[in-house]
Amino acid sequence: MLLHIMVNLNSKILLKANNITKKFGNFVANNSIDLEIKKGEIHALLGENGAGKSTLVKMFYGLLLPDEGEIFLNEKAVSITNPKLARYFGIGMVFQHFSLFPALTVTENILISLDKNFSKKELENKISDISKKWGLSIKPSKKVNELSVGEQQRVEIIRCLLQNPKILIMDEPTSVLSPQEIKNLFKVLKNLSNSGCSILYISHKLNEIKEIAKTVTILKTGQVIDTLDTKNVSTKILAEKMVGKKVVKLKTKRSFTKTKQKVALLVNNLSRTKKNLFGVSLNNINIFLNYGEILGIAGIAGNGQVELMEALSGETTGIKEEIMFEGKPIGDCKIDFRRRLGMEFVPEERNNHATVSDFKLNENTFLTFFGRYNINESFIKKMMTSANYSYEDSIEIIKKNDVRCPHENPMAKQLSGGNLQKFIIGRSFQSNPKLVIISQPTWGVDIGAATSIRQQIINLSQNQKAIILISQDLDEIFELSDKISVISNGHLSKIKNKQNISPTEVGLLMGKN
Ligand code: ADP
Ligand code: MG
Repeated sequence: MLLHIMVNLNSKILLKANNITKKFGNFVANNSIDLEIKKGEIHALLGENGAGKSTLVKMFYGLLLPDEGEIFLNEKAVSITNPKLARYFGIGMVFQHFSLFPALTVTENILISLDKNFSKKELENKISDISKKWGLSIKPSKKVNELSVGEQQRVEIIRCLLQNPKILIMDEPTSVLSPQEIKNLFKVLKNLSNSGCSILYISHKLNEIKEIAKTVTILKTGQVIDTLDTKNVSTKILAEKMVGKKVVKLKTKRSFTKTKQKVALLVNNLSRTKKNLFGVSLNNINIFLNYGEILGIAGIAGNGQVELMEALSGETTGIKEEIMFEGKPIGDCKIDFRRRLGMEFVPEERNNHATVSDFKLNENTFLTFFGRYNINESFIKKMMTSANYSYEDSIEIIKKNDVRCPHENPMAKQLSGGNLQKFIIGRSFQSNPKLVIISQPTWGVDIGAATSIRQQIINLSQNQKAIILISQDLDEIFELSDKISVISNGHLSKIKNKQNISPTEVGLLMGKN
């Protein structure tokens, strides 16, 4: 088999996909894909959510088998039936979600996943060598739960590099990194490419692709739309090819009146001890939010965003004067009570937190709205005898927010991520709230839906509502917010006006412990 691969080492093309088709049931996830990756080239794979990018690379890594078509390495057809074989062929992959054990050290994590046998000491030395050679600084004896997300990614990259890959596949590698970590990653990737290793870089971020990749292949609904030299194409054209239509620009012009600002929310030295080992303690959090303002809270996931949201929404109670809404202490009030005061919440997790996946949209609407209904005997009778409660509300939300449904009243789980998110946000805006706290509103949502969600948020603030936007997406934070702060290890940095803080500063605060 080795011989098989060794032939044709002179070929410039390292990996070639020829007419690859992959179906899940009747659904065609990859449709006759052709792709060529040259040796030492950084090749980007661009596409919206659901375009078929992960499906394609899973076939390169032996996690899925194509239904039709062939994969060539150095011009020889290969059948990559499992990841071990892929690694043997020189294909390495860093996944979107890391597969590390938090309680084990860096060395232990790498040791248990390697195909070759090393002693622990031997491996530790090898890790140090690779780490030095490529600028992937890491301490092999550290436990993974002590590492930042960027460091965890370095562990995954080192794990791949230990196998001397000819190509490194990275699936959406920067979605959770700070700007500094992204810069460092790009340096590593460029060095690897200069040394002859090809990189297949998956992303939906246009600026990144222009910066890092030489060639870009655009996928849409499982098909290759185009392959282009990144030098000769603008991000605007890339976006249009990715989406398949003209991209609507956000109307961000804000008629922001400074004169009649009224305080909506005050958080005063809020501290909470973490509930479990993997939680984050909140430490002296201070927030001051006026009506008409959007406060953007940036930060890498797992730094207290969930705990802060729980405290502000009323999922955690038992807090006293530390949280004041319109001058009233609400820290010990339940979520329904806060809703009745005019607060609304959009949590990060769409499935089984913001909605019940197996419930229909009207039922999901009912679950958030019922605190507002007059629940008397006749209401309960109506509810028991008809399945139509909240039906009109739900239809209105769907219409107003352009939620694309497979039929009139589907279950939450039958909507795509972007459409479900439009529904959830529409539902929370439907009650004309005074204050909305939204976490990661466009996470994993395609560019069309993301633009429409961001526009909804801007419109709400134009109507003098107060908004807290918790987001990992720095572009989104800077595009929408009036004021910006960063959450890191349970601390919230001093809130600054957008004009007075740069993305680099935000990045530094994100990495602070
Ligand atoms: P991308 O990585 O570009 O976001 P994916 O390759 O993950 O897209 O998915 C492409 C399409 O295939 C999506 O519509 C997704 O729902 C579907 N899909 C992916 N994996 C499976 C699977 N194991 N079973 C059924 N459908 C799948
Ligand atoms: Mg994917």
